[in-house]
Amino acid sequence: MIDPAINAMMMSHKEHFLIPGEMVASVSEENRLSHAFLVLTKVRYARIPVLDRDSKFKGLISMPMITETMLGLDNLSLAPLDELCVRDVMDTNVRTIENPYDVENVMHILVDDPFIPVVAQTGEFTGIVTRREFMKSFNFVSHNLDEYYDLKLKKPLE
Ligand code: AMP
Repeated sequence: MIDPAINAMMMSHKEHFLIPGEMVASVSEENRLSHAFLVLTKVRYARIPVLDRDSKFKGLISMPMITETMLGLDNLSLAPLDELCVRDVMDTNVRTIENPYDVENVMHILVDDPFIPVVAQTGEFTGIVTRREFMKSFNFVSHNLDEYYDLKLKKPLE
């Protein structure tokens, strides 16, 4: 279990954890790949969420998922960009969370994933928790822990 002191200090910065859905670049599962290609090029993020018409979370899409469809034996074809939709290539095997403030779970997942989509029980996309924002809060904890707690070494560190 995460130390209650660390948890309490992380929670004092909880307003930074969640980047709300309306601030997150996303595409619709029905969009053509050409549209997703343009969005990913413009926003410069590696992977972005895919939503349906009702703002429900469906998966993630990245540039390699798109360019893979363009690969011929010895040439590149632009045709798949207008023939295929985002839902044809998106990754649906994505770890999501419901509660962005479960510090222990968030920390565990962010070890592997650079960001976590936050999805309500209804399936609605709420936003994302990024490793960057989480690290900012952890930076605050590392620099200020002794201001709030009396720290005493109980046994030598190896
Ligand atoms: P960061 O920790 O800010 O580098 O973000 C890690 C990853 O989270 C990025 O590479 C994107 O895949 C995703 N991401 C962060 N912010 C946004 C955003 N505003 N819209 C869409 N995706 C984002």
